Amino acid sequence: MRTSLFPPPTSRLPHVRQTLMIDADDTLWENNIYFERAIDAFVDVVAHPELSPPQVRERFDQFEATRVHTHGYGVDAFHASLLAGFEHLTGTACNDAHAAALAACAAHVRGAEIEVLHGVAETLSHLAQRHTLMLVTKGSHAEQTGKLERSGLLHHFAQVEVLREKHADAYRDLLLRYALDPGNTWMIGNSPRSDINPALAAGLHAVYLPHPSTWVLEQDDVSTPADGQKLLQLHTFSELLHHFA
Ligand SMILES: [Mg+2]
Repeated sequence: MRTSLFPPPTSRLPHVRQTLMIDADDTLWENNIYFERAIDAFVDVVAHPELSPPQVRERFDQFEATRVHTHGYGVDAFHASLLAGFEHLTGTACNDAHAAALAACAAHVRGAEIEVLHGVAETLSHLAQRHTLMLVTKGSHAEQTGKLERSGLLHHFAQVEVLREKHADAYRDLLLRYALDPGNTWMIGNSPRSDINPALAAGLHAVYLPHPSTWVLEQDDVSTPADGQKLLQLHTFSELLHHFA
């Protein structure tokens, strides 16, 4: 009796539906570049007599880092940081001209078009056929859901979660609320601090997708996954199809 040289179909791994949690800003669409431009304009408005532009930038980053935990994320919080940062850096109150210039900085960020990153729409379309997609972002609920609607990507997601902060407990809470098995759950994003490290700490697998313009407050060394945990680093969003086909 002849035997097949090919393994029988039953030996193939069964397809297991995964839950793919996916970050939004700088993973699905451009975001940080607009803030970078606004901060460059802020440095011009400050026009510090002694500090160089890079020094003003560094001090503003430090100032903002102390505020995000209490004031949150999003353009409104950013606008407030620009106003308070001006006074912090110059030691003087904003006059009307300064306030108008800083309002314009924030308005440019708020009015920026959604620029979906290359390959994202097609990749989400394929992934959504075989896996459960959950958008997991942080910041202002209205701002983030508004961007998602304008992006044209909303229909790919089974769930949308806009969290106040993306720390390990926030990921543990999502696992509990949606009764998810961490062994079949992944977090995909550009931020080591908000996407990769806390997700690994909560027991999820992770896909790190670095973006060349990542906010300084989101940068960190990537943690080492525990035994049995998977951590992929990809160059493009489309490469997800090689791993989650
Ligand atoms: Mg991000």
